Amino acid sequence: SVELKQLKKDFSGVTVLQNIDLDIKEGEFFALLGPSGCGKTTTMRCIAGFETATSGTIEIGGKDVAKLSPNARNCGMVFQSYALFPHMNVFDNVAYSLNIKELKKNNLFKKFGVYTRMLNSKLVKYPKEIKEKVNNILEYVELSDHAYKLTSELSGGQQQRVALARALVMEPEVLLMDEPLSNLDLKLRHTMRNTIRRIQQELKITTIFVTHDQEEAMSMADRIAVMKDGEILQVGTPTDLYSNPKTPFIADFVGTSN
Ligand code: ATP
Repeated sequence: SVELKQLKKDFSGVTVLQNIDLDIKEGEFFALLGPSGCGKTTTMRCIAGFETATSGTIEIGGKDVAKLSPNARNCGMVFQSYALFPHMNVFDNVAYSLNIKELKKNNLFKKFGVYTRMLNSKLVKYPKEIKEKVNNILEYVELSDHAYKLTSELSGGQQQRVALARALVMEPEVLLMDEPLSNLDLKLRHTMRNTIRRIQQELKITTIFVTHDQEEAMSMADRIAVMKDGEILQVGTPTDLYSNPKTPFIADFVGTSN
């Protein structure tokens, strides 16, 4: 679960988020929907710990995370730009963070030095558990056949599935996705909606999904928060929003008035 209470964020004295109250339940697929600049990404970055909120509280799994580093918050992130390592294959991309964690745990990190260089020179031998975990997750996102291709050789949809696998392999408590589909063409976007939803439901992972695309939010989410100018206008199921929009802006935005 993710709970935000009276979250506020200023950038150099300018308020870009205020009065943000959200109560996202365990296993819920929750969308933040709103036009460009309304504060969706900033909300996500506060949850992930990349921004410090000016005031208010953020709880993940009932725990106040204000003082925790991004790493310690246990959030998996998937971005619009996939942020993969283009010179590494799919398997290595997915195994990367997991292996670093393992190396750190066993105090081997310092000994080995620059990990990326090791990967390139094929010095890395993955422990059996890591191999199993990565292979499982690759099967999940239907990338088993591409495990040893460079990510730069993959299509946009395949790259996005690598990004998803890389987030999920860490077994995060919360999955944060920021406009993950907006770089894909229309047809692929529809396929990926189904893939993401299927995986989310199978893993029952609490997911926050940022989009400016009302159709995407309405077709995927259990509940949606509609945002405008740094505030939440309404929270509800797609049906709620469609049949009882609180303001003309929402009616317009979710398509009731079309
Ligand atoms: P988009 O869909 O275009 O990414 P968004 O809804 O995600 O928009 P944010 O990126 O959260 O919106 O931005 C909200 C507001 O905060 C904008 O006015 C933006 O200019 C401002 N903002 C975001 N990050 C910073 C920053 N680091 N410094 C100053 N202002 C910022």
